[in-house]
Amino acid sequence: MPDITNDVILNALKAITNPIGDGDIVSAGMVQGLQSRDGNVAFALEVPADKGAELEPLRKKAEDTVFALPGVVSATVVLTAQREASAGAAQPAASGGQQTKPGQPLQPQGKGDILPGVKAIIAVASGKGGVGKSTTAVNLALGLAAEGRKVGLLDADIYGPSMPRMMGISGRPNSADGKTLDPMENYGIKVMSIGFMVDEETPMIWRGPMVQSALEQMMRDVNWGELDVLVVDMPPGTGDAQLTMAQRVPLTGAVIVSTPQDIALLDARKGLNMFRKVDVPVFGIIENMSYFLCPDNGKRYDIFGHGGAKREAERMGVDFLGEVPIEIEIREMSDSGTPITVSLPDSQSAINYRAIAATVGAKIDAALGEGPATPRIVVQ
Ligand code: ADP
Repeated sequence: MPDITNDVILNALKAITNPIGDGDIVSAGMVQGLQSRDGNVAFALEVPADKGAELEPLRKKAEDTVFALPGVVSATVVLTAQREASAGAAQPAASGGQQTKPGQPLQPQGKGDILPGVKAIIAVASGKGGVGKSTTAVNLALGLAAEGRKVGLLDADIYGPSMPRMMGISGRPNSADGKTLDPMENYGIKVMSIGFMVDEETPMIWRGPMVQSALEQMMRDVNWGELDVLVVDMPPGTGDAQLTMAQRVPLTGAVIVSTPQDIALLDARKGLNMFRKVDVPVFGIIENMSYFLCPDNGKRYDIFGHGGAKREAERMGVDFLGEVPIEIEIREMSDSGTPITVSLPDSQSAINYRAIAATVGAKIDAALGEGPATPRIVVQ
């Protein structure tokens, strides 16, 4: 089927009257960031911040209108607004949904509680990319599962989803009811990633609001079932998208992954401040690539000046959760879909990961013991 053109979509949207001004929503300039690929259409409707809630019917109408067009398999419309954050900086806000036709991934979202069967949600974050955040998320999830917990792993790193590869899962998720997706599973862990839906080579361009919308759908429209903990591999960095996510997902706590160099630690500090700003408890810092154990002579080399994260954690008043060496096996196994915690469970690194998981597990239990996690979902 030929791809639907933007002209056809805009033409259809012109039939919708602007409920807060003159003309239609297209001529009023409300339709922003229109993208369509293989019948998957996504755009934002820019509306005044204070009108977000009352314009939900408009969002739905726009979505229905596009969804009804021939050749459209999914329609995602989010409301966006520039709202003044309390700190004074402008910050994007969004709410949204998506519709897909039967047999297609991602379906209309309900308005109910996000993840009612999930007891705890943990974010694994880093101030910058490439520090081993995803590797840590995988091995932390496996370590928590080794403790007998029911664990899910959500790949929120939608710019560079790595969970399909790292967890050794290929194929597409099934949708038994045509509405919700069943998560994929390996090593006893349920996994969802945008990487299951989009080919690895496909470049993904996301506007901030769409990031949030995609993440919420991967939470809400996936049959996670009953989980003790959902580990969320966050997108790297501390920009607006990460901040919004930290704010709108009911996180029980966050762990920050850093390498020991000063520069990475500086970024880690930004991550810490981000979570503090939105009142998410930071469980602590994990130092990855802490030191190098030479496989030839067993000698230890502190390539990046080992111990920086521990000192930084003390300085910032958060716990140091543990360290993981830089090891050829971690890289090989992480990248070939056989994480070290399951493939070499007796290795020192696997022992370290399990110890970190035990500490994080205890912190989760303590957090839940103080009462259920308070959702901090901003309803526009
Ligand atoms: P991020 O999620 O922070 O971008 P990744 O987890 O994708 O980082 O890791 C980046 C690369 O570094 C991957 O190839 C991964 O296998 C490797 N890596 C991560 N941690 C270690 C480690 N402790 N030892 C060796 N290689 C590692």
